[in-house]
Amino acid sequence: MKRSESPSPQSVIREDIRALAAYTVHPAQGMVKLDAMENPYGLPGWLREELARAVAGAQINRYPDPEAPALKALLRRTMDLPQGFDILLGNGSDEIIAMVISAVARPGAVVMAPTPAFAMYRMSAILAKAEFVGVPLAPDFSLDAQSMLAAMQERRPGVVFVAYPNNPTGNLFDEAAVCRVIEAAPGLVVLDEAYHVFAGRSFMSRLREYPNLLVLRTLSKLGLAGLRLGYAVAQSDWIREIDKVRGPYNVGVLTQAVAQAILEHAQVLQEQAAAIRVERERLFAELRRLPGVEVFPSEANFLLLRVPDAEAAFQGLLARGVLVRNLHGSHPLLDQCLRFTVGTPSENALLLAAFCEVRAG
Ligand SMILES: *Cc1c(COP(=O)(O)O)cnc(C)c1O
Repeated sequence: MKRSESPSPQSVIREDIRALAAYTVHPAQGMVKLDAMENPYGLPGWLREELARAVAGAQINRYPDPEAPALKALLRRTMDLPQGFDILLGNGSDEIIAMVISAVARPGAVVMAPTPAFAMYRMSAILAKAEFVGVPLAPDFSLDAQSMLAAMQERRPGVVFVAYPNNPTGNLFDEAAVCRVIEAAPGLVVLDEAYHVFAGRSFMSRLREYPNLLVLRTLSKLGLAGLRLGYAVAQSDWIREIDKVRGPYNVGVLTQAVAQAILEHAQVLQEQAAAIRVERERLFAELRRLPGVEVFPSEANFLLLRVPDAEAAFQGLLARGVLVRNLHGSHPLLDQCLRFTVGTPSENALLLAAFCEVRAG
């Protein structure tokens, strides 16, 4: 028997999901790709060969070890993680953000972050049916501790996300202001240190002081965005609960094997990060000389800048083969703002030349 109406997405998919816009990634084939905070340097040939050997030896017929003890031990050693705290691994730190939010998302739960913030905090909150509350930063992008405290008092968030340095603004918030937020928070505070290698500042050593603190990191911005590996460090009673949300085999055999092979040579990535920091300062100085351009100080691997017409600049750069990110319209504080990922010296030279052409009209 043929039915008159077959089931459609409209009849079963949640309204709030249907109302979402999918996360769009701009096609980048053949472009100078400066839109996604990737490390522009590849790995040296000798290290690629070690990765090939690690992959060749991986047992992909077996499920991965869900606890990944060897990888965790290596992270502890190479990333200077404090003893006495547990580690949770994720398929990128994106997955850990989603896990933390799922774990706290009881009915009526609030997820809070100073905004503009990393987009996945809001996205994951919506998916978990939690309410996302953004608390605007001050116009100079500093953390407004007073309004964070007031908002926390009123809305009682289960979790507060603070990116340190912040994306998309690039700055490090005042440490004392962050401490006030952690001390006053009624729940968990996630310090998202996706860019810590470019900042040289971290809350990792303060885990002992703050039992409600979870420090989140990723290998993506360090140079392994394609690998998808993030990690969280916190007291074991928090990690034990959040771990229940995790799919047991969320970090695959190949990811574990490749991450271990690379972390044995973590200094290669650290040196690349150091080169990116030098380039960041050079690019900052060059951009600051341009009249009509406001560049904001950054402790990350990207620069936020304000121009007279962000869409025209974005399109002009695109036409010249340079892909950056236009943030205009994404938050009131980001009026006419662009975000440039710091590339190699030659990529940055291409960016600067194209940007000057665009500005000349
Ligand atoms: C890029 C980014 C992440 C996500 O990184 P993964 O690739 O999922 O590990 C998390 N937080 C911030 C602030 C980011 O900018």
